[in-house]
Amino acid sequence: MKKNNSAKVNICVVGAGYVGLVSGACLAEVGHRVVCVDSDPAKIKMLKKGVMPIYEDDLERVVKKNVKAGRLHFAGSIKDGMHHGGHRAEAVFIAVGTPPREDGSADLSAIEKVSEEVARNMTDYTLIVEKSTVPVATCDWINKTVKRHNKRHLPFDVASNPEFLREGTAVWDFLEPDRVVVGVSTKQAEDLMRRVYMPIKGPLVITSVKSAELIKHASNSFLSTKISFINAVANICEKTGANVEDVARGMGLDKRIGASFLKAGIGFGGFCFPKDLEAFYWLSSQVGYDFALLKTVKDINEGQKMWLVKKIEEELWNLEGKTVALLGLAFKPETDDMRFAPSLDIIRELRKRGAKVRGYDPVSQENAKKCIKGIYFAKDSYDCAKDADCVCLVTEWKEFAALDQKKLMAAAKHPIMVDGRNLYDPAKMRELGWTYKSVGRP
Ligand code: NAD
Repeated sequence: MKKNNSAKVNICVVGAGYVGLVSGACLAEVGHRVVCVDSDPAKIKMLKKGVMPIYEDDLERVVKKNVKAGRLHFAGSIKDGMHHGGHRAEAVFIAVGTPPREDGSADLSAIEKVSEEVARNMTDYTLIVEKSTVPVATCDWINKTVKRHNKRHLPFDVASNPEFLREGTAVWDFLEPDRVVVGVSTKQAEDLMRRVYMPIKGPLVITSVKSAELIKHASNSFLSTKISFINAVANICEKTGANVEDVARGMGLDKRIGASFLKAGIGFGGFCFPKDLEAFYWLSSQVGYDFALLKTVKDINEGQKMWLVKKIEEELWNLEGKTVALLGLAFKPETDDMRFAPSLDIIRELRKRGAKVRGYDPVSQENAKKCIKGIYFAKDSYDCAKDADCVCLVTEWKEFAALDQKKLMAAAKHPIMVDGRNLYDPAKMRELGWTYKSVGRP
């Protein structure tokens, strides 16, 4: 086994999804030797061929560059990943999924499985770095699990290193982070984590393991709260004639509040906010604290997704047999991710009311086909709007901002537009002849 005395760290990243693949590629980009492991053989096969299994800006370039430089590798098993090419992994990052269970708690079974496997394949001191989003005290469980399966009693540490990247700007976020949070319990773990993150600019926040775990859930829940707050304000605006965009601007200029995450719309989705909010609420209840605010944030979000359906009904009355066109299906622009996308709930409700749904997304269409049945997938925005009683903007992709509105209106049966993301200018849209509805704007 080759010994590594340089600043470069031999890293194995388990889980080559949105977080694992981006983290692995970026850690290689800053000079480390990285092996990304995934249990999905199709993903590894694609990556070995240079094909990206996910849509993420700039990822392909970074992956290909680092594969060529010999710093980034792919493996189908943790055993291979931890001992790839005769290099022993000093740090193993866990970046597998932590999906929600029925009761709102996080399903941590993949983390347990990986911990067992890592323990069985250690041959010297190993730092196990928990990167997936998990409830506080998960690292205690990893510790216990590794101890149980580490039959040779090799030394190890468990660190928490929650990830804050956003899909769509993930590569940039990883390489230029606002902060890197690292939770450690020993000096050896801290030193190794400092080596890993030394080449990356951005403040390193070193905390206890539990604090680091909590920072992630608290951050995501706070951001969700901001979104639900402005959406609640948007509802008040609608009832009083105020304009939520002006209100948000006036609020956001206050440095104590900040302008980000004050954009009214049809609610948040994706693989992070909804499940992390639920998991944080569940965890709070488990430890005996009723974090009622989080429940309200969730309720506001659920209501907000239905805002779109309500607005369509206000215009079309009964939806039975009517056609609704949805522009955008992904949970946000610049990603192909359909997990917990608001469009899924909206489509379900529209179909329940007997509406025929046409949908179009510039990037997530193929993923959408796997999880949405019974709708027509259009080839472009104009095809989507064809003969629609109402056209709805669901995801604010850049290409939708540049649509030929006259052509879109000509394709639709009626010039009715419900804009769930406040993408268009209300005055211009009305001037063009649309009956135009948007969120919290008069
Ligand atoms: P993902 O589903 O895209 O990726 C997870 C990967 O892990 C999959 O490719 C899966 O095949 C693989 N995997 C599952 N079990 C495995 C095992 N036993 N061995 C090897 N590979 C295994 O999920 P993601 O979006 O990357 O999220 C991962 C974690 O990071 C979650 O906890 C999520 O909450 C968190 N997170 C996600 C984002 C985001 O924007 N997606 C941002 C920050 C944090």
